[in-house]
Amino acid sequence: MKLTVLGTGTIAFSPKRSCAAYYVEAGDARVLMDCGSGTTRRLAELVIPWQTLTHVVLSHFHIDHHQDLPTLIFAGKYGMLPPRSAPLHVVGPVGTADLLQRLAAAYGDWVTAPGYEIRITELTPGMMFDLGGAWLEPFKVPHTPESVAYSITENSRRLVYSADTGFDPAFAEWARQCDLLVLECSLPQTMAIPEHLTPEQCAEIARRAEPKRLALTHLYPPVESVDIAGIIGRQYHGPMVIAHDGWSTTFED
Ligand SMILES: [Zn+2]
Ligand SMILES: [Zn+2]
Repeated sequence: MKLTVLGTGTIAFSPKRSCAAYYVEAGDARVLMDCGSGTTRRLAELVIPWQTLTHVVLSHFHIDHHQDLPTLIFAGKYGMLPPRSAPLHVVGPVGTADLLQRLAAAYGDWVTAPGYEIRITELTPGMMFDLGGAWLEPFKVPHTPESVAYSITENSRRLVYSADTGFDPAFAEWARQCDLLVLECSLPQTMAIPEHLTPEQCAEIARRAEPKRLALTHLYPPVESVDIAGIIGRQYHGPMVIAHDGWSTTFED
């Protein structure tokens, strides 16, 4: 399994951080988790084989997590020669099919019928989705009504992506002892809101979850002036990285 982080930013524009997107090679699948603005730019820059993506997995319906999905679908129709013929599987929480219908109402029927199959699967927490040699699992997190985190498990390796979330001890328990926890770290303590995490809350989640490695992401500009590593290090003593766009890691069995 291999993860390449494409977007570590938010809807607060940053010169170095695109909106949320994570490329994962796992089993037979080439998966894009979230697809915010700037994803298609990063796919090209990092020479990711976007033409052969098999799945796009959405965590929730905020625009910084899906804005480039129509662009990606359109690129399969007009942005490659020959045009895409393989199905593209769009997976997300309940409401994903409706989101694509509404995007099609705005942009045209090609969003759901671009000349290749757009296969939509809505997952409810507790379901496991077969990626062909790897498993995708959603977990409800407190952010929007539909918001979920995901894990991808291949053999004995488990990657957990929090997506956008507020503080929830149940999420920490679900993520326990995963190989890598990709955790949102949105706002400094002075700007704390229930829908996102502060470095202090990330530290508490990491202390409870004890991931083998921790990667922080989804950083609004104000949190970057805080000593994130120092705050985390008081409670979590494993290896930690503040991810940047293009950060990549592999999981060996
Ligand atoms: Zn977000
Ligand atoms: Zn969000």
